[in-house]
Amino acid sequence: MMMDLVIQDKTHDESRQGEALILEPANGKNSGRKLYIESYGCAMNFSDSEIVASILSDQGFETTADYNMADVIFINTCSIRENAEQRVRNRLREFTIAKVRKPDLIVGVLGCMAERLKSKFLEEEKLVDVVVGPDAYRDLPSLIGRVDDGQKAVNVLLSREETYADISPVRLNSNGINAFVSIMRGCDNMCSFCVVPFTRGRERSREPLSIIKECTDLFNRGYREVTLLGQNVDSYKWNPEIEGQESEVGKVNFANLLEMVAAIHPDLRVRFSTSHPKDITDEVLYMIAKHENICNYIHLPVQSGNSRVLEMMNRTYDREWYINRIDAIRRIIPGCAISTDIITGFCSETDEEHQDTLSMMDYVQYDFAYMFMYSERPGTLAAKRYADDISDAVKSSRLKEVVAKQQQHSYIRLQAQLGKVQKVLIEGF
Ligand code: SAM
Ligand code: SF4
Repeated sequence: MMMDLVIQDKTHDESRQGEALILEPANGKNSGRKLYIESYGCAMNFSDSEIVASILSDQGFETTADYNMADVIFINTCSIRENAEQRVRNRLREFTIAKVRKPDLIVGVLGCMAERLKSKFLEEEKLVDVVVGPDAYRDLPSLIGRVDDGQKAVNVLLSREETYADISPVRLNSNGINAFVSIMRGCDNMCSFCVVPFTRGRERSREPLSIIKECTDLFNRGYREVTLLGQNVDSYKWNPEIEGQESEVGKVNFANLLEMVAAIHPDLRVRFSTSHPKDITDEVLYMIAKHENICNYIHLPVQSGNSRVLEMMNRTYDREWYINRIDAIRRIIPGCAISTDIITGFCSETDEEHQDTLSMMDYVQYDFAYMFMYSERPGTLAAKRYADDISDAVKSSRLKEVVAKQQQHSYIRLQAQLGKVQKVLIEGF
């Protein structure tokens, strides 16, 4: 069936939403307490859960896949669309029932919903004992201590520096082959529809040698593929002349970082996500072409194919710019797979403008796409400036057209692979 043939981007894996993550207990450090941690959203959030597990494993926590066995339940949340938030709320209600049975059970909300909904969770709904934002995970042991003493505990402060560079994340539910490595946090782009700059704070890059060390350790432990993660990897920037960026290496941009990771070993495959069309440079494209172990795959979210809508979205590129970047990819890395994100029914989008998105899809013939109806998020620029004036029925019928087109293109792109010989990394049975 055609649906089964799409190439999956792993950075927002629908099948992993709500997955409970488990790890082996740390040797000799057993506090007798069990942690259950469930994650939603993008790969960045799943990667953050590994940092949380690492911090708590150092405190002697074990993990469990059954929340009924847990002493601490954490839910690592996503705010990107309204339905992502709704899913988390429903789940929290189930955990409350567990709390009635076991009153000293600690329930905590981590991640992107923390800042906006902290008072709601703690005071109004009284569902939750701890609320912790994405930059405050180092504080978790003391926050748990405060709850043990009978208080509620909150830390949703966002940081300009925190990258957890020195924390070696434990790998949760890993197949031992693919790993995500976070290279930066936050986002400075302020796309008008997006909550990320508010929930995850300012953009900051992680010290490059700590990234190389983590990837080298992974390779030595048998991992054969790393995906470098950031909201906008092309703006990765390390510059020791900037205060606070001390390091043994000089200036490093994303192309340099790719080369450093690729040099770890020819058998280590290197992937990355997400690229922003305004920032992806020819230097990065040439670097991908130069190294066989950097996978020929770019996730380049277009959002819309119409320049007026793109301007309202504050994406800072227009249709022509995006097409220029696609042409550069095709020229410099022939055969490179390209995937995208598309939003249908953004504020005031007309039918003709929607047609521009469809024609952009025809131009690129994406291998894969994440496709969404616009969901207004409180506090974003779009929520403040523009009316969410496209009806759900229109958003949804536009989405159906986009999805149908993407299925055709995924099929065509896979047909083009027939008869070709490719080097394959076997990830499991
Ligand atoms: N930083 C990446 C970028 O700029 O492409 C992606 C970040 S976001 C986690 C992933 C995708 O969610 C976006 O590319 C966008 O398509 C979608 N998205 C974000 N906010 C949305 C909203 N309010 N409604 C619908 N989709 C949204
Ligand atoms: Fe959100 Fe835009 Fe930043 Fe991506 S680049 S995280 S869409 S603000």
